[in-house]
Amino acid sequence: MSNAAYDAVCTHPIPPRMRNGTEVPFIGPNFEAYKKAHAETVGPNADQWWAQMARELLHWDRPFQTIRSGSFKTGDIAWFPEGYINASYNCVDRWAFEDPNKTAIIYEADEPGNHKYISYGELLREVSRVANVLKRFGVTKGDTVSVYMPMTWQAVAAFLACARIGAVHSAVFPGFSSEALRDRINDCRSRVVLTADEGRRGGKAIALKALADKALEGCPHVEHVLVLKHTGSENVGWVAGRDKWWHEESAKVPNYCPPELLNSEDGLFILYTSGSTGKPKGIMHTIGGYLLGAALSVKYVFDVHPDDRFGCMADLGWITGHTYLVYGPLALGVATTVFESTPTYPTPARFWETVDRHRLTHFHTAPTAVRLLRRLGESHVQNADLSSLRVIGSVGEPINPEAWHWLNDHVGRRQAAIVDTFFQTETGSIVVSPLPGAIECKPGSATVPFLGHEYALLDPVTGKELEGSGVEGVLVFKNTWPSIARTVWQDHNRWLDVYLRPYPGYFYTGDGAVRDKDGYIWIKGRVDDVINISGHRLSTAEIESALILYDGVAEAAVIGANDELTGQAVHAFVTLKREFKYDPTDEPALAKELVLQVRKVIGPFASPKKIYITPDLPKTRSGKIMRRIMRKIIAGEGDQLGDLSTLAEPGVVDVIKAKVAASA
Ligand code: ATP
Ligand code: MG
Repeated sequence: MSNAAYDAVCTHPIPPRMRNGTEVPFIGPNFEAYKKAHAETVGPNADQWWAQMARELLHWDRPFQTIRSGSFKTGDIAWFPEGYINASYNCVDRWAFEDPNKTAIIYEADEPGNHKYISYGELLREVSRVANVLKRFGVTKGDTVSVYMPMTWQAVAAFLACARIGAVHSAVFPGFSSEALRDRINDCRSRVVLTADEGRRGGKAIALKALADKALEGCPHVEHVLVLKHTGSENVGWVAGRDKWWHEESAKVPNYCPPELLNSEDGLFILYTSGSTGKPKGIMHTIGGYLLGAALSVKYVFDVHPDDRFGCMADLGWITGHTYLVYGPLALGVATTVFESTPTYPTPARFWETVDRHRLTHFHTAPTAVRLLRRLGESHVQNADLSSLRVIGSVGEPINPEAWHWLNDHVGRRQAAIVDTFFQTETGSIVVSPLPGAIECKPGSATVPFLGHEYALLDPVTGKELEGSGVEGVLVFKNTWPSIARTVWQDHNRWLDVYLRPYPGYFYTGDGAVRDKDGYIWIKGRVDDVINISGHRLSTAEIESALILYDGVAEAAVIGANDELTGQAVHAFVTLKREFKYDPTDEPALAKELVLQVRKVIGPFASPKKIYITPDLPKTRSGKIMRRIMRKIIAGEGDQLGDLSTLAEPGVVDVIKAKVAASA
């Protein structure tokens, strides 16, 4: 789309369930209401508003006096600095004391039917036991603990146990290899690792302990490994002295552990970014500010009320799992879902059966999962009762309008709201998103800045703020907010270099965006991914969305390659829907149709120079397309692919190399 074309996209009215459900939306009923609310949260009263939210939503052991200090210029951000606060107490104790039987966690195990509800009372006991075990291991405030656990409710308890005693958790996605685990344990110097005998996903066992053992061969400073007996596999290697069973250690300690008195600016966790653009960064978050961002965004972006049942499908190893599975929902005292399985196990109806079974009010997933399910057809979503859903969230990549409509038509059935939420490991919580009771959506746009956030689009070269509508620039934020990360672990200079120095005085997201005539924000993807053809700036997202509109296309990834004539040329990698029939011996015919498709939707200047039909695309383990890999291969630098530790299926690299070589 040209920038003006964004103006032509129609809005979708606020859906019925946000208008006449039993819960009145916190912010609504229209854009005016949002505008008024937002205006009160930025500008001269911003600090007072943040302070009020911090007091309203969180329990402070000692009150803060200063609200915010430091700046992007000086790289010394702090929020609520005199305040003392414990995240574990906030997420567990206060609800357990109020009603110990209230459901805290809905654990949907890999095998359908093996679900379990964990109450706040039970969660408090488990968190306490693990915290006491960690203390026996000598873990104290400021120590790091690596968590390499499957999607079990005990993994949530592990996070909260660390938080309880002031240990900084560093979760590592259980799909990571032993090398990736080793590097992350060593980078943050953990002496303690929490893991399980095995994980289970999609009916298959994952030998977590064996992978951890291999990693630990290269981690000389690890002293204790606490192992959850999850599948009960007989085949678990054991290092005497170092390895201890979770249940045996837990049986030795009391069921209650007092929460530690912790400063608001003490560390809560380290989390490595997804690695879409390069070597992952160990992003560091602190307690008070992060927890406020998590609670506030769950409350307002998802319009969560006390009896809701929140369902975030992300893995605990990603920021979405931290904020929207653990800390946000639990800080509000609502039920959260730990989903152990995959969207297609045992059938592609699994998500919808889960929503139906637990009457989830909220469902939050990533575009990659939506595209996968769309590829497999609507029949799988039809039989579930999805009437409990009020808000459906998308996060991780720009959502293609086609995928947005699929969610709206088949999952929300035009009754529920869809929120396309933009955030990053570094921002801690959502920074751009519709508020479901106030903002009419345009499919593909993350819409407006969240409360308390002031963004700008900058000219990438001059760094000047772009005014007005129909402009495109790099997305930055102007003022600090509580949940922004504080540093890169042990590398503050990298933090400054990547995020705060590129445009002094701003936080640089690395993503490009357009502002349309209504002030809606369209995230166009990484600035590095933008393609420049004969002076036209094109985002990968819009060309990909044009390709997905073609009936047989399941997914597309687009990159720019140097071109003598046009500066850059579009190369598109396309995967097809399972049921789509075409003649594989005549790929050029299909490629021609796909080129026509892009010409039709965007314009002739965007026509891909080459289309490659491939069975799969390189993605991070969190499901994001890694365009840098395809860019390197096309540029003939397939032997310099850089850090591939977060690549989900290493095999696709060779498939793509072969495809590109064959068509050269
Ligand atoms: P790395 O920083 O290591 O390259 P990453 O940026 O993929 O990895 P995350 O912090 O998990 O790691 O992802 C944040 C990025 O995801 C954003 O910068 C943006 O590019 C993308 N993103 C997240 N949500 C959205 C959304 N709703 N729309 C568009 N893009 C999104
Ligand atoms: Mg990033």
